[in-house]
Amino acid sequence: MQFFDFHHHKKNISYGIYNLDLESCPEDFPYSIGIHPKDIDVNNIENQFDWLRSNVTENCFAIGECGLDSIVKTDLKIQGEIFLKQIKIANELKKPIIIHCVRKFYEVISFKKHAEQPMIIHGFNKKENIAKDLLKNNFYLSFGKAVLYNLSLQNTLKSTPLDKIFLETDNEDFNIEELYQKVSEIKGISLENLNKQILENLETIKNG
Ligand SMILES: [Zn+2]
Repeated sequence: MQFFDFHHHKKNISYGIYNLDLESCPEDFPYSIGIHPKDIDVNNIENQFDWLRSNVTENCFAIGECGLDSIVKTDLKIQGEIFLKQIKIANELKKPIIIHCVRKFYEVISFKKHAEQPMIIHGFNKKENIAKDLLKNNFYLSFGKAVLYNLSLQNTLKSTPLDKIFLETDNEDFNIEELYQKVSEIKGISLENLNKQILENLETIKNG
């Protein structure tokens, strides 16, 4: 069985969504393209958007990762403007949006009203109340390696509806099958059905 890796940075994985590095070329397998908050260069932002727009091919699955990050150096107001611009590109191209968020979940929620396409928080590993508020606002949550050992996150996952879930390796070096196995235990469903559900979720977000 093959297991879809919703968000990763490894060129050797073709069954999933590969996140393109800034200024790199599109791949011949599904990828996401966006301006990560850490990569924002205010003096070069027009070129960064040109790169984004001109590298959306038929293999582009999503816009992202983009979003808000309280740790990077770029001012949050500027991050917000650049996030909004990417939301508008996603609306125009009818692509889902993969979101990177560090400690700015309520601000990210406030951007949801601008999005006409599904929004997925990648690498979700925060508390259950944040998950609840995101789900209430129709976000999807993509879970990664932390599920393997973080008990409170396992509880959050337990109460997250199956049709709102994705699974990913991101930058971590481990086999995604391990994560699918763990999630199938936590959710009490077979690996086959979990796999099927994730593929249905992908179809759903693809169709807006
Ligand atoms: Zn990532």
